[in-house]
Amino acid sequence: MSEQPLGGSERVDAVVVGARCAGSAAAAMLADAGRSVIVLDRARFPADTLSTHAMFPAGCAEFQRIGALPRILDELDPPRLTHIQMTFGGETGTRERWEPVDGIDYGVSLPRNLLDVLLVENARERGADMREGCSVQSVDFEHGRAAGVSYTDADGELRRIRARLVIGADGRRSTVAAQVGAWRPYRVSRNGRGLVFRYMGDPAAEHSWQRRTMWQWRDEDSLAFAFPNPNGRVLGLFMGDADEASEARADPEAYWERKLRQHPGFAERIAGATAQTKIRSTGDVQAYWRAASGPGWVLAGDANHFKDPVTGQGMGDALRMGRTLGEAVAPLLDDYAATDAAARRWEHETTRHCLHAYHFANSDTIVRPAPATFREAVRLLGPDGQPGLSHVIGRTRTFQQVITPRLMLRAMARALRHGPDRGRILRESLADAATELRVRRELARDAFRPAGPVTGSDHPPLEWWRAPAGPRSPQQDPIPERERAPT
Ligand SMILES: Cc1cc2nc3c(=O)[nH]c(=O)nc-3n(C[C@H](O)[C@H](O)[C@H](O)COP(=O)(O)OP(=O)(O)OC[C@H]3O[C@@H](n4cnc5c(N)ncnc54)[C@H](O)[C@@H]3O)c2cc1C
Repeated sequence: MSEQPLGGSERVDAVVVGARCAGSAAAAMLADAGRSVIVLDRARFPADTLSTHAMFPAGCAEFQRIGALPRILDELDPPRLTHIQMTFGGETGTRERWEPVDGIDYGVSLPRNLLDVLLVENARERGADMREGCSVQSVDFEHGRAAGVSYTDADGELRRIRARLVIGADGRRSTVAAQVGAWRPYRVSRNGRGLVFRYMGDPAAEHSWQRRTMWQWRDEDSLAFAFPNPNGRVLGLFMGDADEASEARADPEAYWERKLRQHPGFAERIAGATAQTKIRSTGDVQAYWRAASGPGWVLAGDANHFKDPVTGQGMGDALRMGRTLGEAVAPLLDDYAATDAAARRWEHETTRHCLHAYHFANSDTIVRPAPATFREAVRLLGPDGQPGLSHVIGRTRTFQQVITPRLMLRAMARALRHGPDRGRILRESLADAATELRVRRELARDAFRPAGPVTGSDHPPLEWWRAPAGPRSPQQDPIPERERAPT
């Protein structure tokens, strides 16, 4: 809990802006370590947010590490998604069981209006002061160092909190990032795909194998997904070209019907389903990296880094960022220099954890039919109990550990042997192999704030978003180290 108000402001060890995955995880760890922490969120929970929420065992292990898993399982009783199945144009590419993480061998798909309130309750129960309906207006600086925030409370009163550390866990359009001079990322990559989704009553029987499987169909250049949800629901998602979001907005049901024809496997899986919500869509999911640590401030979760949701990593990464940040800084908060150094080391480690997944998502956001070599690689991996694609998606191994150069060569040979258009397959495979080499070189360099771009993986960005309105502090760090502005 925070200390008594002093001179109009409260004093705490840490103030966290944003109470969802990253913010509630950071708060839970700081409170567990005996630190005083206030979390401010402008939302009042339960509150939804735009997200399709596929989570794998590594994400569930994060729930466990912050102490939220028992509550989630008890209160939501979600289907335990033990398998992932991927189908290419009607043929099964792979059906794999997740590798366990900390003994957890299932993923979940939990609507954010159900999940996030439990994360907030978990942090509150651990001792964090969770304040809803509170909107942060500015980061306050003292002697060039972030020293707290000003916010309007649930009654519209302007209030101040002084803190040893300001944590921005306030999402893609982060007020904290804008306030500390980190709004413009040092790296941006345009998304090719958009997302169109809705919830339906699941026609599959409650404890059937269909309800334990996360599904993905790849037909032509489009992807379809089905994620079984609690309460007998299933989330259906299409990821075609980003422009399809506008098509879906113009005539949602006509769009849905067209996609059902494009994805007959998906249509079969959900045959007889009843639509339970309207169709939601977005074409704006560009990937980016921001400078994420500076004097007295840190950015975690989407405020720090976002990758295309096509591989479903954002929530798990946001939870992990919050947890590891809390663990890293909690013992050091009485020493400013040590806190800032730990935050910087944490930023580097976080980048290392996410960079290979960023490149994997960049390759899957390219709107094209699944490359023949990739299809063959997935088939070669699947059957004999070797690490498979589920290890890459589940983050228990990196893409580079699973899709080795030797495997790529074998897959390419098979694709060329079986493929109808060998010239095209060869050209595409060589281009992808060259991109992969460049990715591996970047990963090996292990740079702090690696600015790229890696040709073939980073996609030239469109315009960057306009910063949220608000006062800008004259003391803010003006140009974060190695920032590279997108053009
Ligand atoms: C369309 C879409 C689909 C996705 N699908 C998946 C998926 O299937 N699987 C997956 O793992 N990830 C997915 N993601 C990514 C995932 O949603 C995010 O990575 C995750 O929500 C990040 O959590 P966070 O805590 O960092 O931020 P957020 O969830 O964005 O939370 C930020 C919070 O900060 C609060 N806030 C913002 N500004 C202020 C302010 N000034 N004052 C007070 N509070 C403030 C907001 O109210 C919000 O509650 C998807 C994302 C999108 C856009």
